[in-house]
Amino acid sequence: MSSFEDDTPDLRREIIETARALPRLGLTKGTSGNVSARTKSGFLVTPSGTPYEVLTEDMIVALDMEGCYRGEILPSSEWRMHLDFYLAKPDCGAVVHCHSPRATALSCHRRGIPAFHYMVALAGGDRIDCADYASFGTRALSEAMIAALGERNACLLANHGQIAGGPTLKKALAVAEGVEDLADQYLSALALGEPVILDSAEMTEILKKFKSYGKQTDELDEGQAAAFELPKRVD
Ligand code: 13P
Ligand code: ZN
Repeated sequence: MSSFEDDTPDLRREIIETARALPRLGLTKGTSGNVSARTKSGFLVTPSGTPYEVLTEDMIVALDMEGCYRGEILPSSEWRMHLDFYLAKPDCGAVVHCHSPRATALSCHRRGIPAFHYMVALAGGDRIDCADYASFGTRALSEAMIAALGERNACLLANHGQIAGGPTLKKALAVAEGVEDLADQYLSALALGEPVILDSAEMTEILKKFKSYGKQTDELDEGQAAAFELPKRVD
């Protein structure tokens, strides 16, 4: 096991739990997909080609920010996408890649997800793009991912699947789940033709609201509270 200072059995366990949630939630099958979490000196990632159910803490691989790994076990073939995600996004603490069925179906048409529903804001922008195609496990794929992410924290990967990041493993998994939901709804909506796309003024409002959504009144400033048109409190 690596001796990186904040590489703990607890974090390794949490990565395994997140990886096992992927097949349970219908977000991936077999050994497809991979999960990582940032540490102080680099990141921990699931090993390559290993069924999630057999994973143990000592099989999770530690890499540094130069992409060097420690130990006997090879890291995920997508280690570079995880590394580049962390390098590009300092606030990102965890990354989940999966071949979720509806996002993958859309990616095979090289189509991203426009603002057909306001929830596209969950990836931090007014749409979710699809990265250009490149073979799995390549620098070219990672570069295509970075281009498609832009300022956002999720994208589709052409003829492959999706990748999502977040401050924690739980949040990265929630973004991946959200992307799959959106892909499902978008594909359903497309059955009747092109759905109505929300304009950029509306999406700017939505992105503002997302910053305060879920907060209590003592955590909201006046402008944020006004945006929610809260009911009057009478007690
Ligand atoms: P790994 O098993 O090497 O993580 O690869 C799975 C995958 O999804 C490749 O894109
Ligand atoms: Zn993959």
